[in-house]
Amino acid sequence: MSWLLPDAVLTATGLQAGLAVELDGDLVGRVCPCPPGVEPERLRGKVLLPGFVNAHSHAFQRALRGVVQHAALGSDGGQGPKDSFWTWREAMYALAETLDPDAMERIATLAFREMVSAGFTTVGEFHYLHHQPDGSPYAAADELSLRIASAARTAGIRLVLLYVAYARSGFGVAPNPRQRRFIHRSPDDVLAAIGRLGDVGVKQGFTVGLAAHSVRACPEAWLRELSAFSGVIHAHVDEQPAEVAACLAEHGRRPVQVFADAGMVSERFSAVHLTHPDDAEIDTLSRLGGYVVGCPTTELDLGDGFLPAGRLDGRVGICIGSDSHAAIDPFAELRAVEWHARALAGQRNVLRPVPADDPRDGLALRLLETGSLWGARSLGVNAGRIETGRLADLIAVDVTGLEFAEARLLPTLVFNGGPAAVADVWVGGRRLKSSGRR
Ligand SMILES: [Zn+2]
Repeated sequence: MSWLLPDAVLTATGLQAGLAVELDGDLVGRVCPCPPGVEPERLRGKVLLPGFVNAHSHAFQRALRGVVQHAALGSDGGQGPKDSFWTWREAMYALAETLDPDAMERIATLAFREMVSAGFTTVGEFHYLHHQPDGSPYAAADELSLRIASAARTAGIRLVLLYVAYARSGFGVAPNPRQRRFIHRSPDDVLAAIGRLGDVGVKQGFTVGLAAHSVRACPEAWLRELSAFSGVIHAHVDEQPAEVAACLAEHGRRPVQVFADAGMVSERFSAVHLTHPDDAEIDTLSRLGGYVVGCPTTELDLGDGFLPAGRLDGRVGICIGSDSHAAIDPFAELRAVEWHARALAGQRNVLRPVPADDPRDGLALRLLETGSLWGARSLGVNAGRIETGRLADLIAVDVTGLEFAEARLLPTLVFNGGPAAVADVWVGGRRLKSSGRR
């Protein structure tokens, strides 16, 4: 048992000074004024926040940073519509073809370490590289998933392995040989792999969810069978207009409705991206209790569009992910959620403050909940708030450089903070990063 005493602790209602936080194994114990006789670790000049939750990651794509942030080869120089999500996808597939298990683990470890350093304490890894480059299984069928788990263990980040089901290249689309590493023969094969990995996860300390890749990759019959899964389910939804058009051509319905009709949308379902929803899709998610994972830095990088956070606000829980890792910066993702909503609405302060009667700090609190509590709910993890009995996934943020006489600390932190301000990180009560200054 040990105690932390920062300058302030972020609670459900805002920053509170004078509170100490007890670390009780991997959980938060008491959150209260420091009891007599206790010698806490003093975190001077720092505030304690729940760790951020990265609800959507493809760790191997970290190797594309700096490689794809220029005109795609074979495009028209980036001047026209040819350079797009779809050309980026070919570059990503080319990388995916080259990765052996060692390279996969190395890159994933790099990505996860960078996440921890930036203040992410949980990652939902949407993992779809399953087989050898020619499509044949590895000797150990779950080799690459286990390498992801090993990378997370090395980095210390909490892992929710979102195991991807991938059936085909698309409706009426010829098979793409570059997708051979992703494809399973049947939904049963996917569910069997998830069962095996779930057993390993119990011993190794990670959990496993299902990722139904997209309506492109999963026909409706697969979605119906996969909806029998009882854990969290994530899917790419409405990322590109062409994906919606293909879905309408195949099903006569838009993607959220296809997932819903297959029985998949519930409070355990998260729609990743949702950059092109219509109002009926938002209604369906709201009615059935799903979440939305926005990945604004990737969505900007890929030209996907903007998360319509203003239309989702108060109806669908929003969380964040760093997806392709064009950037790994929870602060950048959070302020982009609000800034994109402003750009779309033509007004300021679009998202509703939490609590509603706190106009000064409420928006910052709301965004911090988006970055922690809602992501934890989307991934089925008992974290996201500093409360007794929750996992002790915490970050201490150095605010000494952010304090000005009239400025409110929380809005300054959310709208001007960055990974460099994250001084200390704990996952399950274990310290992974230390500023060395206490
Ligand atoms: Zn993705």
